[in-house]
Amino acid sequence: MICVSIARGRHRHMIAEHRHLVQQGAQLAELRLDYINGEVNLKRLLLDRPSPVVITCRRERDGGKFTGSEDQRQMLLRSAIAEGVEYVDLEDDIAGTIGRYGKTKRIISLHDYRKTPDDLADIHARLASHDADIIKLATTANQPHDNLRMLQLVRASKVPTVGICMGDIGTPSRILAGRFGAPFTFATFHHERTLAPGQLSFQQMTEIYHYDRIDSNTVVYGVVGDPIGHSLSPMVHNAAFRRMGVNAVYLPFRVPREHLSQFLEDAPALGIKGLSVTIPHKEAVLKKLTRMDDSMSGIAAANTLLFEDGKIVGHNTDHQAALDSLELALTEHHGRKAALDNQTALVLGAGGAAKAIAYGLKRMGATVVVAGRTPQRAQQLADSLKCKTVEWANRYSVQPDILVNCTPVGMHPNVDATPYDKHHLRPSMVVFDTVYNPENTLLLKDARSQSCTVVTGVEMFVRQACLQFKEFTSQEAPSDLMRDVLKRAIGPAKY
Ligand code: NAP
Repeated sequence: MICVSIARGRHRHMIAEHRHLVQQGAQLAELRLDYINGEVNLKRLLLDRPSPVVITCRRERDGGKFTGSEDQRQMLLRSAIAEGVEYVDLEDDIAGTIGRYGKTKRIISLHDYRKTPDDLADIHARLASHDADIIKLATTANQPHDNLRMLQLVRASKVPTVGICMGDIGTPSRILAGRFGAPFTFATFHHERTLAPGQLSFQQMTEIYHYDRIDSNTVVYGVVGDPIGHSLSPMVHNAAFRRMGVNAVYLPFRVPREHLSQFLEDAPALGIKGLSVTIPHKEAVLKKLTRMDDSMSGIAAANTLLFEDGKIVGHNTDHQAALDSLELALTEHHGRKAALDNQTALVLGAGGAAKAIAYGLKRMGATVVVAGRTPQRAQQLADSLKCKTVEWANRYSVQPDILVNCTPVGMHPNVDATPYDKHHLRPSMVVFDTVYNPENTLLLKDARSQSCTVVTGVEMFVRQACLQFKEFTSQEAPSDLMRDVLKRAIGPAKY
């Protein structure tokens, strides 16, 4: 179950949001009295309430907005209990002064906005001693390992416990709460009005993560990177799991470099069976692999990990996806399956994507030239693949048949930028932009206007995600659905 926190300054807005959420399927709402401007009219908020409620009135020191006296605050909480609300939230230091009455259940809570304390179990025991029906622990995750400590505590607790790690590192703990036995998790009314760092909206919880379908058997997948908030992979993979009836959930794991090793060790205990890997970890994960799949040979970078019986196996689906997309375009361009023996490919960029694509092009027989902004990095890549390099400023000196952009130039929000001037594009060229947000980058618009054949980053993204889906589930991926979801996600913002 999801408890949606409603924080509005006016009674009528709080009541309207509560009704709206219940119409959308919410079963429990937290009414944040500390957000109400002026005197709180409890009876008005509770009369004909459309769902059970948690009444919370948070002080400033606990991250709330209540500015009245402590006596007034506690009086409000006592009045809520007298009105027979379903749940009341009592911070542990006042829980002893407010007694149990009627049917109201007591949520004994503690918030820590700085850390997830080392003595979590002791704190939990202290909260339980205050006649708790439910314990709520909300602490800040400073490292991904905090999620595991919190969720293991939730699972082991005899008293139902809502244990949540705040911050974007802690987001997985919110989505996995039910899997580890929490009675509910918290979400907000709207993703732009979060009340705690890392909180998701009710719509994100239900429409992307299908929270209420997650149970103790749900298999966990996700994408590991830093940053990760922008990733569209959760939308695409969760939609595919749902369509194919797979009991699995796909999460965003923000893991800073220094915590990658610990995170990969923790992964099986979190229920993780597979991961997508993105910037900056594609090469760093190699150290933790038990085995590299053939798809990685020559690339030394993994974008997919599978966890099997204590082993971690690395795969690379970027490479195959890029080549499949390119091959399709070349076949269209030439009217037949084309060989690349006498083709020159200019690869812009010298990072992970450039490495995978340049390697594939080389294997298909193309003459590859790498143009990199940082000459040493481009040279290193060229040396490893035994291909040529040109300085970034001299990239127009190459007359390529195939141009591949493997830099982020042109990516949202810098949509007016292009890594290659329009006047150097010729109709005989195939232009492949790996950037997928937006789908129609300026480079591709220019290429179309010059009658070039184009390959979009969306095509590559969908293909690599489909290959990952197959690795994860051994089932064919619903590629059309995944493409639709991706295209909708990179359209006007919805969440
Ligand atoms: P990466 O490892 O960080 O490499 C980025 C490369 O771009 C580096 O060589 C970097 O130069 C260069 N670069 C960055 N900004 C530049 C600028 N303003 N001008 C010139 N060069 C610049 O990243 P990656 O993983 O290879 O990803 C690169 C792009 O590929 C991203 O846009 C990503 O969206 C796209 N991609 C798409 C897919 C897909 O499925 N469609 C999959 C993977 C990646 P330095 O060497 O100087 O740092």
